[in-house]
Formats: sequence, C-alpha cells, structure tokens
Amino acid sequence: MKRKKAVGIKKVRRKAAARKQPAKKRQCGKEENVQHFSNRQMEAIFNVVREVAGEDTIPIVRILLKKRSISEYDIANMIKRDINQTRNLLYALHKSNLVYSIRKKDKIKGWYIYYWSFDGQRVFELYKKINERRVQHTKSLIEREDGNCFFACPNHCIRLDFEQAMNFNFKCPECGSLMEREDNTKKVESLKKDLLELSKQCKRLGL
Ligand SMILES: [Zn+2]
Repeated sequence: MKRKKAVGIKKVRRKAAARKQPAKKRQCGKEENVQHFSNRQMEAIFNVVREVAGEDTIPIVRILLKKRSISEYDIANMIKRDINQTRNLLYALHKSNLVYSIRKKDKIKGWYIYYWSFDGQRVFELYKKINERRVQHTKSLIEREDGNCFFACPNHCIRLDFEQAMNFNFKCPECGSLMEREDNTKKVESLKKDLLELSKQCKRLGL
C-alpha cells in the first residue's frame, strides 16, 4: 500500500497546489471506490449527482466510477475541458462530499497534483436524505389536501383553500367568477401513490 501522509510543511510552488486541500482524507481510499453498481444503482447515482452538482458534472462521475483515483489533469483531458473548468466541476461535486482527493507530488514537475475519487457510499447516504426530504414534503402535501377543502375558479385562474376563498367571498380575485368547491380526491390519491413510490425507491436499492 502506498498511502501518502499529508505533506505538511513543504512549500508549494504552484498556485494550483497552494490552495487548501479540498477533500477530507479517507482511510483505505484505494479499495472502497472500486464498486460494481447495478443499473438501478447507477441511475440513482446520476440522479443524485444531477440534483446536487448539476448535469455538467455527470461526465466526471462516469470517469470516476471506473477508476480508483485519477488526476485532475487526466480528468480534464477526458472531458475535454480546461483545468479550471474541471476543478470547478470537481468542487461542485466536492461540496456535497461526493468526491474526495489526495495530493501527490509530481516527481518531475515538482508540484502537487490532486487525484480524485468518487465516494460510492456517500452518494447513497445523500440519496436517502433526498428521498426522506421528498417523503416529508409529500406527506405534508397530503395532510394539507386532506385537512382542507379547496375552491377553484372555473376559468382556472386560481385555487384557494377554504379560508382564503372565504376572504374573497368565494369570488375569483382574478376574474370575479364564483369559485367552485373542488373535489381533490384524485389529487390526494396521486400524492399517496407518489409517497408509496418514494418509499419503495430506497427499499429497491437496499437502503
Ligand atoms: Zn378566475
């Protein structure tokens, strides 16, 4: 095992290397990232990445998933972007701790190069969190729909709950039409379906 300890006091010559090391160090970074994900897991990974770091980071993640650790310069070459753009994308991923890096001194050039890896564990923690947030949100929507009656304008201008509609004397504040009591059974049903689907998503991934 060639684990490098943090290179503490040595002076760094290049701006690139001079900035603070952006990633936490992990133990056994070598082994943990070589994982074989199922198609379903891959889909989940890309969904999380898209949501927290943006579509542009997907090509990097594709590369990192195939490698234990890869230098930022190699990544830049592979995604055909310059080094600064590449770093920005890596930082976007790093903000959510989806990637981590170690730095190694380049023996020939004499400066430090960052080697990046994808955190295949963190991504599913994040998946779970996002899923939980959605579950909570959907539950609160169901509660709201169940606990209120709603009034809608026949011209589809607006939809108000009972109290709001009462404040407008049940007249649409946009067009003045008399608002009609809305049957939200279907809406509640569809929200409940969403909720069920959300709770299945984690189970399918074994989370
Ligand atoms: Zn109206």
